[in-house]
Amino acid sequence: MLEKSLSWIRPAIKEIQAYHVADASGLIKLDAMENPYQLSEGLKEKLQVRLNEADLNRYPDPSASALSAKLRDVMQVPLDKAIVLGNGSDELIQMLAMAVAAHDDERGVCLMSFDPGFVMYKMIADFVDVDYVGVALREDFSLDMAAIRKSIQENQPAIVFIAYPNNPSANCYNEKDIEEIISISPGMVVLDEAYHPFAQASFMDQLSEFDNLLVMRTVSKMGLAGLRLGLLCGHPDIIKEIDKIRLPYNINVLTQITAEFVLDNVDELDQQAKLIRDEREVLLKKMSAMSELRVFPSQANFILFRVLSKNANDVFESIKQSGVLIKNMRADAGLLKNCLRVTVGTPNENEAFVAALNKGIGK
Ligand code: PMP
Repeated sequence: MLEKSLSWIRPAIKEIQAYHVADASGLIKLDAMENPYQLSEGLKEKLQVRLNEADLNRYPDPSASALSAKLRDVMQVPLDKAIVLGNGSDELIQMLAMAVAAHDDERGVCLMSFDPGFVMYKMIADFVDVDYVGVALREDFSLDMAAIRKSIQENQPAIVFIAYPNNPSANCYNEKDIEEIISISPGMVVLDEAYHPFAQASFMDQLSEFDNLLVMRTVSKMGLAGLRLGLLCGHPDIIKEIDKIRLPYNINVLTQITAEFVLDNVDELDQQAKLIRDEREVLLKKMSAMSELRVFPSQANFILFRVLSKNANDVFESIKQSGVLIKNMRADAGLLKNCLRVTVGTPNENEAFVAALNKGIGK
């Protein structure tokens, strides 16, 4: 019977490697671009009072309207644009993909992004069975505009996803290039601004110029990854369609209350983001001084680097043995060859990482 059940699972799904989340128990966790700081005790206590008032027996507000209004305010979403909320921005990517996935569209539906890029764009394209085109970035992780123009012309993507800054390379692409992509794209262009607190660059203002532009944000990297909350902003006619795909009550009551409360006190998160940006510069300087590494510039809360002197797998394992978990890009070839990625943590965590890295590269 099991065999029969499994025979219904699409071969494309069976081929997918499940999204791997490493076990970080007992380790300093610098693998997932989280904010290392907690809320202050004062805010935590006040939040506790709010959470005690939650009606856990009731379904949450289906459209999370109070939270939406708060997000609009904090993220400066233009008044004539609409917002849809997701259980993390991952869910918004999924809703977008589901909205365009069609097998009877003679244009042939595909999603496009850049390679190396955020893995969920391709994974979700596979989930919903639409083609995915990943246009290769240049060696310095900038956009290869000649290749992109050609690919847009040939593939006519329904959606182009642009992570700004990009994950895993941590850079923001050239603004003019992005504007050209928005102009020449036959469909929607999603600016995925997950790392906005660290880049402080945004296309939110350009929403008024381009009807096909959508801006996506998340509270995850601001310090609320545990809540699972993302937002997609854009033309009301587009957002209205995406919102139909949203499952009812996708933003649970605890998330709604907590996010609203923390956003009322967003200064605290802003200060944490500033600390992280400052620490990023300290870490970049220390790492750039190591001749065994090639360190790529970062406008995010993580740093990508290539190990020049050794096999990155060995360096990764050694760093882990020293008690620090970072991310191994596991590439033997291509633009991520021998690359590792570290999230910026607290000063102490970063020091522990630098010591572990020095040991790992044999200093
Ligand atoms: N976009 C990018 C570029 C990311 O790197 C990530 C998370 N690593 C996400 C979106 C997903 O964020 P969320 O936690 O909101 O699902």
